Amino acid sequence: MSTVRERPKPLLLPQFCKGCGRCIESCAKHCITVGTEINPATGLVPVHLDLEQCNGCGLCISACPEPYGLRAEPGKDFVLEDPKALFGPRDKAREAARSIPDERLPLPLVEPLVVKGTYAAAIGALIAGCRHFYGYPITPSTEGAELMAKLLPKLQGVFMQAVSETAAVNMMYGCGGAGLRATTFTSSPGFSLMLEGISYMIGAELPAVFLNVMRGGPGLGNIAPEQSDIKLACRGLGHGNTHAVVLAPSTPQEMLDLTILAFDIAFRYRNPVVILGDGYLGQMTGTVRLPDFVVKPGLPDWAVWGDKGHRENLNCSIFLSESDLEAHNTHLNAKYAAMTAAEQRADLFETDDADVLLVACNTPGRMAKGAVRDLRARGIKAGLFRPMTLWPFPIDALKPMLERVRRIVVVEASNGQLEDEMRLAISHAGVHAPPVINSVRRFGGILPQQREIVERVLGFEGKEAAA
Ligand code: SF4
Ligand code: SF4
Repeated sequence: MSTVRERPKPLLLPQFCKGCGRCIESCAKHCITVGTEINPATGLVPVHLDLEQCNGCGLCISACPEPYGLRAEPGKDFVLEDPKALFGPRDKAREAARSIPDERLPLPLVEPLVVKGTYAAAIGALIAGCRHFYGYPITPSTEGAELMAKLLPKLQGVFMQAVSETAAVNMMYGCGGAGLRATTFTSSPGFSLMLEGISYMIGAELPAVFLNVMRGGPGLGNIAPEQSDIKLACRGLGHGNTHAVVLAPSTPQEMLDLTILAFDIAFRYRNPVVILGDGYLGQMTGTVRLPDFVVKPGLPDWAVWGDKGHRENLNCSIFLSESDLEAHNTHLNAKYAAMTAAEQRADLFETDDADVLLVACNTPGRMAKGAVRDLRARGIKAGLFRPMTLWPFPIDALKPMLERVRRIVVVEASNGQLEDEMRLAISHAGVHAPPVINSVRRFGGILPQQREIVERVLGFEGKEAAA
């Protein structure tokens, strides 16, 4: 058995000292002073220790933020304890962490609901087995959070109104790290605040579902509908090499269906999923049919959980070695490629013989569908290509049409964000001579109307609209 007769004095490992000086401030005996020589291994200036007055209080060791900057010096009167001597050997080698698979339980048939889009998405999250909500209220998404606040306590779930979106996303990080299903309802300015956390979640490969009911921007903008975050969700999810599947519902039914799908995708790829609705869709009431199942979530093998099998799991996004980080990004790129191959979705309407193709999503997709009917009644072979995933853009379905259609008209409630995504996808697909591309754009909270779309298309076609 070891004996401790003298408290150990600090030992400086100069290669780990960054010269921050916290240890200097902590020492009442003034044993530590600012260094004067650059360490050639690090280019930094480590502190200098003169331990004549040192009483071994250890405060400097506690003050040092570096794990190995200052350590207790093992001397002849002090023996570092062997944990085995203190606690005995571990009784067993680590058990392999195991996955508990999800189950689908039958849901009795019920009459269709008539609910608004935000409610439909909240119900979809509950059906998908989500029992954790973290968020901060913001119009026009708040009703979804409000419904979760009413229902989650009855389902032994957790509803947490955080102090900010920044706090909420980090709670989602913790929840995802534990292998649990978390969601939030937010709107454009709130989504902007969450981006740092989303980047961390992508880096740490943690699932969660972000429901963003978009409103007018930039800045606080207004609370009216706009497709203002397409670029942010598809190209700007925080710093570094980030992507997430971005789903674009167009009806309350799709708000429910795509939310259920989003949890499936999030856990399949270990990655956040973003659902972009618009403010109109969030408030729009429609008929919604529930599926015939509810999901009973399992537990993934990578989760940080309190049992033996999962105890040694670690989920984080920091890779200090350059080669480790490059390898991690190569792994993420392979995952993005798998998503791009498997997760493209689009809804096609009257596209088989179309020579004028409208491209629109969310609520403008509904206006564009009406415009297609109107244009066909006027003898113009119009069709609608409605992306349901904005990232990955469903280029595999669009590409074969590009050789046939004469004109593409992108209809959107933003200043070209959807068109940019489409053009990028066309370019990456190696199509260098696409059809003529025109646009119908409104923003600031104004959606393109059916009549307006029809008149603009007739104008592009060189035809007069009938009075
Ligand atoms: S152990 Fe205590 S007395 Fe010794 S250098 Fe550190 S802070 Fe100063
Ligand atoms: S606190 Fe640690 S890192 Fe900072 S100067 Fe002291 S030994 Fe160096």
